[in-house]
Order: sequence, then C-alpha cells, then structure tokens
Amino acid sequence: MNASRTFHAPQVMQADPTLIVEGPGDIDWVAVERAAEGTYPHALLTNEEAVEAVGMLRAAGINQRDIADRLTTGRHEVKRAYDVLNARAARAARAANQPTPPRRRATGPARCGTRRGYHAHQRRGETPCTACKAGNTAADRHYRMHGTYHGAPEVAA
Ligand SMILES: [Zn+2]
Repeated sequence: MNASRTFHAPQVMQADPTLIVEGPGDIDWVAVERAAEGTYPHALLTNEEAVEAVGMLRAAGINQRDIADRLTTGRHEVKRAYDVLNARAARAARAANQPTPPRRRATGPARCGTRRGYHAHQRRGETPCTACKAGNTAADRHYRMHGTYHGAPEVAA
C-alpha cells in the first residue's frame, strides 16, 4: 500500500451552498438556441433548457402556439414554461423592490438639541440653533466625562 495516497471520499452530497443559485443550472445554451431556432428537438432538452428556449422565443415576441410549433412540443408544455418564467420574473421583481437597508438603522433625522442636530445644521450651511449649540456643548461635556457620545443628554429644542 502506498501510504501517501489520499483517499478521496465522494463529494456528491457536499454541495457548496454558495454554488446553489436560483434559476438556470446546468444548461446547454447551444441546445437552447438551436431549439429556439427550430433545429433541435424539444425532446432532447432538459426541463430547464426547454423553459429557457420558451423564454427566448417569448422575449422575441413569438406567441404560445408558434413557440410550441417551433419547439415541436405541445402548448401545455409552453404554458408550463410560461409559469416558470413568470414565477422567476415575480421573484426577481420582489428582490429588486427590497429596499436597501440604511447603513444606520437606529438613527432617524437629526433632532435639534443634539450633537447630530448641531452637525446637521453645519452640513446645511446654517448657524446651529440655540438648542443645538447647547446640545453639542452638553454632548462634548458628556464625552469628556465618559469617553463616549452615547447617552449624551439632549437639550429641549
Ligand atoms: Zn437645531
């Protein structure tokens, strides 16, 4: 026995979760394109490839019956592919509508009478109001005492 030979266990069950993506998997795009051109039998396509071929033809503005003819398949197959495509589009739309979470969720608009309010005035090119000046002074004092602005007192605006 050669001791340096490493035994490689089959990796089949250890799918890398980062490789699991929604949507097309192993797709032979040449077959899809040829099927869409009407030069490749639909029967040889995988389900996913058939869906892509239908999607390609639908995107080209071809109606369901003509797609079925082109792919030499039935309209119910085309309809099923439409369902898959529509579900995918809906998922994509939902994902696109997810608002990007703000970087600092906890913070609302800067209120007057606080250090943030003071700086907000400055950013707007304004002279900070009296409450903000007082709030900023109080925050500075708090910082000198506690080493943090967290918990600094606010001044009523
Ligand atoms: Zn202010």
